[in-house]
Amino acid sequence: MIGYKYGANRVIEPEGVLPQTAFKISNDTNISDNEILIDVQALNIDSASFTQIEKAQNGDVEKIKKYIMDIVELRGKMHNPVTGSGGMLIGTVEKIGKNLLKKTNINIGDKIATLVSLTLTPLKIYRIKKIYKDIDRVEIDGKAVLFESGLYVKLPSDLSENLALAVLDVAGAPAQTSKLVKPGDSVLILGAFGKSGVLCAYEAKKRVGPTGKVVGLVASEKDKESLIKTGFCNEVILANAVKPLEVLSKALEANNGKEFDISINCVNVENTEMSTILPLRDEGIAYFFSMATSFTKATLGAEGVGKDVKLYMGNGYTKGHAEIALQEIRESKILREIFEKRYA
Ligand code: NAP
Repeated sequence: MIGYKYGANRVIEPEGVLPQTAFKISNDTNISDNEILIDVQALNIDSASFTQIEKAQNGDVEKIKKYIMDIVELRGKMHNPVTGSGGMLIGTVEKIGKNLLKKTNINIGDKIATLVSLTLTPLKIYRIKKIYKDIDRVEIDGKAVLFESGLYVKLPSDLSENLALAVLDVAGAPAQTSKLVKPGDSVLILGAFGKSGVLCAYEAKKRVGPTGKVVGLVASEKDKESLIKTGFCNEVILANAVKPLEVLSKALEANNGKEFDISINCVNVENTEMSTILPLRDEGIAYFFSMATSFTKATLGAEGVGKDVKLYMGNGYTKGHAEIALQEIRESKILREIFEKRYA
């Protein structure tokens, strides 16, 4: 039996859509000849999603477990109905559909990380073993299915699994940064000491060169001190990203009064669109990696303040993203130490 390349055969409702848009998909573990079955070890829940769930369940681990189990039971995938976001997973390849055997570079027993969102990945959770609230990680007994079009990466042997998982979760952000930022640019990064933010700060500093400037925005004095120590930013400012006027004034001050060429949004809370847009010059670029971004707020907000800026949505995938992100960790001792301390 052959399924559709994009997994359309898995959609239960509504009919005619693809798995990401679907409300419910089939998590049947009997795979088609062009699917891969994964024995799942851990989920890395998207930060915006985990933050929302944790808040809604008052931080109670048992309630968080139940909430996650309920979503997956209802939808056949870990697709947070409030934030609309998912995450990714790691696990071991259990079965490869016979039509894919010659097309893939993986074997049964390989440890892989999926690079497509949990919002479209058929998932069955038998048991949640442990939740690590501070790093949005959920260890489970479960199975997942990858479609023929599904992206994955074999876990590297020189980095610990947890470290690789953390980096791969946000791999799109530094990879897009490497493509958007040019020598001489001034770059503002919101949420610059978070997981994606610090990778973007490192990459942006590398790309702007000696004539450019990277300004990192953080929410706490502790993060400010830590980010300054990395040397990834020319300036670090402490500001609340949900307060655009505060951000505008502090960000411009840090950039000698000049508007920025690029701003990169890596925060995990809502209502930060205008803090990303306001500090930009005309025809500057706002790159929204945050899943808490609202299309309406960004587009209408930009129009409302008369800003002719390019709005980039943070496609989680760009060519070579996994390699670019992992390479950053390999080449920067400082980044590696931060990630090992936080996530490994
Ligand atoms: P993270 O590690 O939790 O980092 C988020 C950062 O934002 C934290 O440093 C946090 O500071 C900071 N922050 C929160 N509220 C703030 C505020 N009001 N003002 C200033 N800073 C604030 O998250 P992540 O894993 O890097 O993910 C960042 C975003 O990318 C999330 O929205 C996530 O959902 C999204 N994401 C997108 C994709 C994609 O494909 N586009 C993939 C993965 C993740 P505190 O720690 O002090 O709160």
